[in-house]
Amino acid sequence: NRLADTPHPLPEGTGVRDGAGVREGFGNEPDTDPALPANREWGRAVLRAAAAGLENGRLPGSELVQQAAVTEAGVLERVVSEARSAASGWAVRGAGGRAEILHAAGRMLASRRAELLEVMVAEAGKTLAEGDPEISEAIDFAHYYAESAHDLARIDDARFEPARLTVVAPPWNFPVAIPAGSTLAALAAGSSVIIKPAPQVRHCAAVMVQALWDAGVPREVLRFVDVPENEVGQALMSHPSVDRLVLTGAWETAALFRSWRSDLPILAETSGKNAIVITPSADVDLAVADLAKSAFGHAGQKCSAASLAILVGSVADSDRFERQLVDAVMTMKVGASTDPTTIVGPLIEPAQGKLLRALTTLDEGESWLIEPRQLDDEGRSWSPGVRRGVTEGSEFHTTEYFGPVLGIMRARSLDEAIALQNATSFGLTAGLHSLDVDEVDHWLEHVEAGNLYVNRGITGAIVRRQPFGGWKRSSVGGSTKAGGPSYVMGFGSWHPVAREP
Ligand code: GLU
Repeated sequence: NRLADTPHPLPEGTGVRDGAGVREGFGNEPDTDPALPANREWGRAVLRAAAAGLENGRLPGSELVQQAAVTEAGVLERVVSEARSAASGWAVRGAGGRAEILHAAGRMLASRRAELLEVMVAEAGKTLAEGDPEISEAIDFAHYYAESAHDLARIDDARFEPARLTVVAPPWNFPVAIPAGSTLAALAAGSSVIIKPAPQVRHCAAVMVQALWDAGVPREVLRFVDVPENEVGQALMSHPSVDRLVLTGAWETAALFRSWRSDLPILAETSGKNAIVITPSADVDLAVADLAKSAFGHAGQKCSAASLAILVGSVADSDRFERQLVDAVMTMKVGASTDPTTIVGPLIEPAQGKLLRALTTLDEGESWLIEPRQLDDEGRSWSPGVRRGVTEGSEFHTTEYFGPVLGIMRARSLDEAIALQNATSFGLTAGLHSLDVDEVDHWLEHVEAGNLYVNRGITGAIVRRQPFGGWKRSSVGGSTKAGGPSYVMGFGSWHPVAREP
């Protein structure tokens, strides 16, 4: 009996290289192709609507956001108990019943791509190019987890007991895909969900939740609750009736939540400090393009973003790579997300604390290859910064900044590069650019990160193809990876079924 003994089917850490379970009928949703004139016209209309919404203060989802506020402990108690009771009615629909609604949710999200994108551009600072694939990812989660629900029913020597109540606390940087993914996985398992939006992007979450309701997810099973970050918020995150907590954010936040209630299983994707290694055999043009996009897409506000480039041997010694990088980065237009020519959009929070330090202060031996500039008064718009001379063990080597700043390190050999790549407490994404198959094999064997990418950027994991999650301090409770074959199983536990021989 493979699965009966353990609530999580895979022991901690082993989910890392789990292959993509190939499912009949599942195909990734295509992004909007901007090469087609009609799509560009569609995109411009989305941007105009987003700009108008910002100007008149009316964003899609506003009404729902207003209704969602829960500030009193008594009201929260009622919501929690109602949601938990509703789970039995949801679970008895069976895998087939739930999967049908999840597929409908995927279709509903697809039909609301324009509205979702509009609110993401306006509220979350996403450009069309960054926001559009995120909607595809949310649609993928719906269809993929619907199929996962069927898998739960297919194992016949163990019975899956779903969690009854899951709380989802998503981040602001992927304001649709991450809340949708966590919610849809819990729903697929048969759990009720209370989703507490990230305060910066409430409207994005509201539009997503509305789409799920309209597709047939019962309102009592999926609750949208905006609790403040005070004792009421803490009461939700640590409520004894909650069976699972899904969190995406800083490792420290996950540790704090764990200290509130240590027996609550947390599925958390946390911080990263991710590097791309470039060896002398690399296709430099490709490496530069992938690096620039991984470092500065969504202004670097991704757990998965590249914040270090480690140049090996002759790549480090010649200045060709750096010259090309300067060209690539200097042509990335910085501006408002509503401007169709923008590549690097705004920061959601003005640069402060360690990010501000990283954008302004150099450490010993470091210098700017490209000096970042603050372009507005509030400190939300920064041009990308690239610093060279980052040394082993320095603050820049090990600290996550979550913004538009990239450091360059040098290594004499691939092994030295891997050692630098592994030397942080995190292990979320990692990249290698090399056309030498022995180097690739060696790197894959020794690098410590959840998502490994060869000759590709290191952001934008694709559902089923690149199940997403980290090692070390990049995850908590990290045996399962989002968009992978075992993720939904994390929302419940297995019980052996005794049978006569
Ligand atoms: N899944 C996203 C990616 O592959 C990253 C999620 C995050 O930043 O939290 O880029």
